Amino acid sequence: RAKSQQRAGHFYFTRNMGVEIRERVRMMHALRTAFSTHELFLAYQPQIDLATRRAVGAEALLRWRTADGKFVPPDRFIPIAEYSGLIIDIGEWVLRTACVELVNLHAAGHTDFTMSVNVSQVQFRHPQFLQMLRQALADTGAPPCHVELEITESMAMEEPETFIEMLAQVKETGVQIAIDDFGTGFSSLSHLQRLQVDRLKIDRAFVTEITGATRGSSIAEMVIQLGRNLGLSVVAEGVEDELQARVLQQLGCPLAQGFLFARPMAADDLSGWLAGEALQRA
Ligand code: C2E
Ligand code: MG
Ligand code: MG
Ligand code: MG
Repeated sequence: RAKSQQRAGHFYFTRNMGVEIRERVRMMHALRTAFSTHELFLAYQPQIDLATRRAVGAEALLRWRTADGKFVPPDRFIPIAEYSGLIIDIGEWVLRTACVELVNLHAAGHTDFTMSVNVSQVQFRHPQFLQMLRQALADTGAPPCHVELEITESMAMEEPETFIEMLAQVKETGVQIAIDDFGTGFSSLSHLQRLQVDRLKIDRAFVTEITGATRGSSIAEMVIQLGRNLGLSVVAEGVEDELQARVLQQLGCPLAQGFLFARPMAADDLSGWLAGEALQRA
């Protein structure tokens, strides 16, 4: 095999790669079928105001439960959806479904509630993205100011000029913009200042660190300060224990999301969860 590889020049097609490609193609077909047979659904994770401990919104997270009851994690199938282009249709469905749920929650009396939706960079760069967004907002009647699009840091930093312009157009629809997993990329802070974003989401990796020895120099602390200085809202992701919540609050972090407060849940469970939360306060 070494010899044939040499002869093939730059093309190294090893047996392992064959397996990998076949697996990817298999997943792609499975995902396409899953989408058309409604094996995909959304789970909603509440976002909490740390000062009042009340839910102010939720993040919609995509779930895939296969016919035999197994869950495929989004970190595995979203790259395949992006690679195959399926993310365009799936992403539109995610946005519309989350918007409908937002309208339901507003109708149920949670009128300040915000819905956060993850948007892949493949979607964001698609020529029809703006049109799709406007149409989804119009068709569902979702109030744009209560819809938040989560985009990743790396997305914002590639081709900043094009991105800044695109973002300005997206902002004209009235939606909010959050930068997801903030701190994991290599942001140029000068670009950040020019982007019309509303919120930074501190990645879970940094939230985990805040109660440790590195606390003084923690990235979480820096992001909270940065948010304050730029007038942006900040959400800490992946808050799992009370100590983390307290430290975050002391550092001035306004919002948090994590297993401490609630796990991602089905739409029906979310309205029940919110009702229970209201009952507790009464
Ligand atoms: P993300 O947007 O950063 O979402 C946060 C992830 O952290 C979610 O994982 C959530 O379930 C998990 N999480 C929340 N609280 C805790 C906690 O306290 N502890 C721990 N250990 N984890 C927590 P999930 O749902 O597996 O999603 C993974 C990633 O997949 C998301 O990261 C997002 O990048 C992507 N994703 C999910 N849904 C969509 C979607 O509809 N569209 C796109 N483009 N990407 C999505
Ligand atoms: Mg997110
Ligand atoms: Mg995140
Ligand atoms: Mg993440």
